[in-house]
Amino acid sequence: MDTQDIESVPFEPLEPGLYIVATPIGNLGDVTMRAVDVLRRANVIACEDTRVTGKLLKAVSATTRMQRYDDHASADVRTRLIERAASEAVALVSDAGTPLISDPGYRLVREARAAGVMVTTLPGACAAVAGLTLSGLPNDRFLFAGFLPVKDKARRDTLDELSAIETTLVFYETGPRLERTLRMLAEIWPQREIAVARELTKLHEECRTGFAGDLAEHYAAHPPKGEIVLLIGPPVAATTNADPDELLRDALQEASPSKAAGKVAKLTGLDRQTLYARAVEIKGE
Ligand code: SAM
Repeated sequence: MDTQDIESVPFEPLEPGLYIVATPIGNLGDVTMRAVDVLRRANVIACEDTRVTGKLLKAVSATTRMQRYDDHASADVRTRLIERAASEAVALVSDAGTPLISDPGYRLVREARAAGVMVTTLPGACAAVAGLTLSGLPNDRFLFAGFLPVKDKARRDTLDELSAIETTLVFYETGPRLERTLRMLAEIWPQREIAVARELTKLHEECRTGFAGDLAEHYAAHPPKGEIVLLIGPPVAATTNADPDELLRDALQEASPSKAAGKVAKLTGLDRQTLYARAVEIKGE
């Protein structure tokens, strides 16, 4: 479909159902032609914030009515939207990017499907995928884990839980928390390659890669502004032939032989006792 098609059939009714509509994550040029079409022709748009979505609608010349919706909405609100989707076109958007991905919509989609309502999706921008493609980190397999918990203990527990996963990990992160998270990563995974993808698709888009310790220093000196995707490359042993002695020497600069052995065991999957014996030897050299 080209723009002319959209212009020529703007207000023919859409088939009733729930339309999951991805919107740009910063650059308006990333709105898809299908998204514009559906946003113009839907009977109602369920959105997180009518002011945010209102700006998008204005930009694409859509005058469709909006209704606030998030997953904390009462079951009644959800039921009414689903009933409406049985006879009209209901579009679901979030403030930016793909609905449901760390955004509202899961319950609505699940219940709409259970109710037998037509549900369709209009794919588009998603910060996690944009960050992954830009990072240069291995992407044959990856694990997206949304936002890390805010509290240190819970964040550490989540990272520990993910230690055994031998793929790139993708998180959403905020500027004020980035340095703290990087310091934690420097402790537990000093040798994994990290990418910080910031302000994707916007004027000041940046993707900085390195080890967590170096990146923490950088962002301590240059507090990051804007929105961030944090990506962590697979464990070293899974991607490189890193020399365990070298890893131990690095770790011993800041940690005891026992802690250094623990760290390197996590990184390499090698036996902790053997690494400990080697760490003691290296320390004595
Ligand atoms: N559903 C959205 C999507 O598909 O990307 C994500 C919504 S989540 C509430 C918002 C988080 O996504 C931000 O805190 C940030 O971590 C990430 N994000 C959104 N836009 C971004 C951008 N332009 N650059 C980098 N990260 C972005």
